[in-house]
Amino acid sequence: MKNLILAISLIATVTAMSNKGPQEMQDSAQKHSARVFLGHERDYQDPGLTETKTLKVVGMSIKGFDTTSRLKINSAFNVLEKVVNSEEFKDRVINFKNTKGERAFASNKGLTNEEIYDIFMEGKETLQQDTAGEMNFFLKLYNSWWSRVIGYTSPDVNLININWKYFKTYRPSDVAGNLAHEWTHKIGFDHQSAAEHDSAPYAIGYIVDEMATAYLAGQIILH
Ligand SMILES: [Zn+2]
Repeated sequence: MKNLILAISLIATVTAMSNKGPQEMQDSAQKHSARVFLGHERDYQDPGLTETKTLKVVGMSIKGFDTTSRLKINSAFNVLEKVVNSEEFKDRVINFKNTKGERAFASNKGLTNEEIYDIFMEGKETLQQDTAGEMNFFLKLYNSWWSRVIGYTSPDVNLININWKYFKTYRPSDVAGNLAHEWTHKIGFDHQSAAEHDSAPYAIGYIVDEMATAYLAGQIILH
């Protein structure tokens, strides 16, 4: 029995590895919180110094989703749009604090938090430069019950793959956080590993998730 279990898990590992492209980013379902500098702190940056921009969330191609899943995706799109267009989102991105206590994202390509906010809100995906002001989503649901990967994408395609194993239990706020993470890859930001929780994809995903959760629970008003 032990040998059988070992053989099955080995097959699962090999399959997971062979599915993985060279630059593909696989994302862990483990959640962390995003720390930010507060108004009274010395390193706090006045977000009013950075121009506020707006983004429209657009579902371009949604594959493999049944009616219930589509409703969840639509709720996630709505709350994601509400969150990213808020002053509080801008404040949290600009004042994001990494694990070293610096006002910077990990793997930030030499860009400041303000510059990353600007690039995010430009809405120009690396592969789709002509859709400024839009977060364009190409999504496909797949089912991988053995995997701990919540979703994955690679730089050479628009497509974002979402694992049904996690999606089925997720609330719209969790999905919104995951979409924000994956879309941050689409605008050219990465993480060195699935443990780099203060990279732009992870941290922005956590910011969106936390804000969406509070907003949907009626705990915060967004404007
Ligand atoms: Zn990722």
